[in-house]
Amino acid sequence: MASKIKTAITPTREADYPEWYQQVVKASDMAERSPVRGCMVIKPWGYALWENIQRELDDMFKATGVKNAYFPLFIPLSFLEKEAEHVEGFAKECAVVTHHRLEKGPDGRLVPGGPLAEPLVVRPTSETIIGDAFSKWIASYRDLPLLINQWANVVRWEMRTRIFLRTSEFLWQEGHTAHATAEEAEARTALMLDIYARLAESFLAIPVIKGSKSAAERFPGAVDTQCIEAMMQDRKALQAGTSHFLGQNFAKASNIRFQTAEEAEAFAWTTSWGASTRLIGGVIMTHGDDDGLVLPPRVAPAQVVLLPIAHKPEDRQQVMDYTEALAGELRRVTYGGRPLRVETDSREIGGARNWEWIKRGVPLRVEIGPRDIANDAVFVGRRDLPHKQKSALPRAQFIAEVGQLLDAVQDQMLARAVAFREANTLAVDSKADFYAFFTPRNQEKPEIHGGFALAHWCGGSDCEARIKEDLTVTIRCIPFDAEEENGRCICCGQPSPRRVVFAKAY
Ligand code: AMP
Repeated sequence: MASKIKTAITPTREADYPEWYQQVVKASDMAERSPVRGCMVIKPWGYALWENIQRELDDMFKATGVKNAYFPLFIPLSFLEKEAEHVEGFAKECAVVTHHRLEKGPDGRLVPGGPLAEPLVVRPTSETIIGDAFSKWIASYRDLPLLINQWANVVRWEMRTRIFLRTSEFLWQEGHTAHATAEEAEARTALMLDIYARLAESFLAIPVIKGSKSAAERFPGAVDTQCIEAMMQDRKALQAGTSHFLGQNFAKASNIRFQTAEEAEAFAWTTSWGASTRLIGGVIMTHGDDDGLVLPPRVAPAQVVLLPIAHKPEDRQQVMDYTEALAGELRRVTYGGRPLRVETDSREIGGARNWEWIKRGVPLRVEIGPRDIANDAVFVGRRDLPHKQKSALPRAQFIAEVGQLLDAVQDQMLARAVAFREANTLAVDSKADFYAFFTPRNQEKPEIHGGFALAHWCGGSDCEARIKEDLTVTIRCIPFDAEEENGRCICCGQPSPRRVVFAKAY
């Protein structure tokens, strides 16, 4: 029988997960579709979350010596063509500028005029244009390593788009580094992946698996693509960030050469790494519930919302004064090295106001009424707990312990996500079980039902392609922490040295 419990979001996750996602985006007021195909409008609540993610990442990058810079939006077609695999990989999803003005056509309507001698590609990624700059900036080993990041928008003409998860235009950072040795570049690739994993786990409360992509899933032109993979609540995988070791491929294409200490000429070794507004989709899908968004405190645009309640007009002034004073004190609290983010909502709209903040995912909601004031107390609701489960706390205690409370929410969210992933990850050894695992819930084998399958793979692209074709399941990564274990490929039965992660993915 269908559940009668009323939820703030319709449909529920269980009923229709993709539609639930769209409804949470809407109800939380984070973003909306734009009139431009595949492009989104990020609203203040969504943008503030992005800014917090951006700030944490930026600080972590800079702590490792990375500096920010900015490069052109347009890439001459000839630049993109310099690396054969790269251009082939991106060719199918490029927006191309071919004209530079508008003219009145025969019917009086505006049409493009002034054809460009060389078309310009709106950057889908910037290896080639940044490579050109690097070739000028680098002359000697003393110029290395060169560690650059840019915060930018990019355009990939995606066929099937979904807000935050896959859009035609998205916001991201792309890091580009050049090194004197392969070892140094490989160490940088790993270091940046570690930073992405730290962002995901410590700030977004999203547990991730670190690993390398198979050749078929590699970034076009890369020698090795490393990634962090997370499990969403529909048990599908989300690639949440990537770090590429590019070998000397792009250095050769862009002529990034340097003089070594021994005065020989050598090509540099380069890396690139990126994470995007897709992370916001990851937060929604990892933590959201049937009442809306649930935000991890470390990145929430507001960590605490104060909700003054004055049913009688004569109480209003006192309640407002008490609330403002509390807001002031809370803003002096430091949380995660930054001032606590506090909002006050004094609109008199009754229960709708409370629900708005529930749907927006604020970690702590604090109600303040005359009775709380009389007791010098506050009434606190945690977003990660059922919304009716609130507790009264002495005001001073709340101020003193608000950081611990937020940490408890953050820890609980990560623990839940870890438990969910563990409950939906299975080591699978036979082909029949593997196919059953990825076919809709099998009643006879209730323990086998989608998610991450840890299975052996021979390393062959044929087996990988067969599985993708049959089940739309891909190798998410070859995990770094996989133990060596002799097994047999789930598809062809040939020997395999370790298990890889298979899943359906966004
Ligand atoms: P890449 O340059 O292909 O390695 O992409 C870097 C990161 O950007 C990926 O790990 C994704 O998280 C993200 N990303 C790629 N394509 C899109 C897209 N169409 N929309 C949003 N994020 C994307």
